[in-house]
Amino acid sequence: MSAIQPSFPLNATTAIPAVGFGTYLISNDDAPAAVCAAIANGYRHIDAASGYQNETAVGEGIRLGLAKAGIPRDALFVTTKLWPGNPAWGDAPKTGAQTIAECAASLERLGLDYVDLYLIHAPYGGDMRLEQWRALLELQKSGRARSVGVSNFNIDHLEEIRSTGLPMPDVNQIELHPWSQKPELLAYMAANGIAPIAYSSLVPLSTWRTEPGQDSAKTDEMKADGSVFAEMAKKYGVTEAQLLLRWGVQNGYAVLPKSLNPDRMRQNIDLFSFAIDDPDMTQMAAMDRGDGVAWASGDPSK
Ligand code: NAP
Repeated sequence: MSAIQPSFPLNATTAIPAVGFGTYLISNDDAPAAVCAAIANGYRHIDAASGYQNETAVGEGIRLGLAKAGIPRDALFVTTKLWPGNPAWGDAPKTGAQTIAECAASLERLGLDYVDLYLIHAPYGGDMRLEQWRALLELQKSGRARSVGVSNFNIDHLEEIRSTGLPMPDVNQIELHPWSQKPELLAYMAANGIAPIAYSSLVPLSTWRTEPGQDSAKTDEMKADGSVFAEMAKKYGVTEAQLLLRWGVQNGYAVLPKSLNPDRMRQNIDLFSFAIDDPDMTQMAAMDRGDGVAWASGDPSK
């Protein structure tokens, strides 16, 4: 394995490892072995969510992984997320009390006393959004969550929090890759001390989530420039996936690659023995194609 991975600060006491292991679309059958293998391969951040419906199996993987690697709980960073409800889907938004209870239920399923990061998965809470955020601040105070944040929030959602004078989120987990760079949102987040965590970094791969029902709408413009990344990767002697993940960490974004394949799992964390040069970073900076293609790029809460 390559050099020790860096981490990025989230708040005064918490830092997040640069590379985490994503657990979306990992079945309950696969999750224990996959999460255990990720920890054995050096991943020190596991990204979970109540909405992925696999927290119990992910928790089993965490216990197996810590034992196999011989490391204590506090050597691992664990994130999980509140499913906030979504009135647009007939799913009532969680109240503050329900938010506290949901976190307790996630901890119970994961078999943990605390998480390092608890997120509101999406801004779908409607008029409960601020109440959910206040509940997360309570969870941080009580030590159930070391840091707290949001996911898929846009500037309006973040401004809604700021206008109340409440503490701002430590992080916003969003879809970030060369085709979806969100410069205005990132500038706002930087100005307000909100760290980015990048999800779906591997969207530009032609093989990204190709199982039936997993793919999403890539534009023709995106499809046309797919080979740029392959060419660049060749130049550095790495895979296209490593190039895309390195782009994230080189920009200061923690990344969360998911793979069930042992070789790909290992290569996705091996990002620190090369650097993308300035001309290539400039070329990639010019490839922004706007909104992302993963599920939450739209905003049904408005
Ligand atoms: P991803 O990690 O960007 O890509 C995963 C896909 O790429 C899978 O099809 C995987 O297949 C393949 N893959 C992985 N490594 C590869 C490599 N080195 N070479 C070729 N193919 C490779 O996608 P993601 O799961 O959408 O995002 C990652 C994580 O971010 C999620 O698991 C989840 O934890 C988080 N996430 C959060 C949100 C949110 O709303 N907050 C939304 C989406 C994702 P194999 O398994 O076969 O390798």
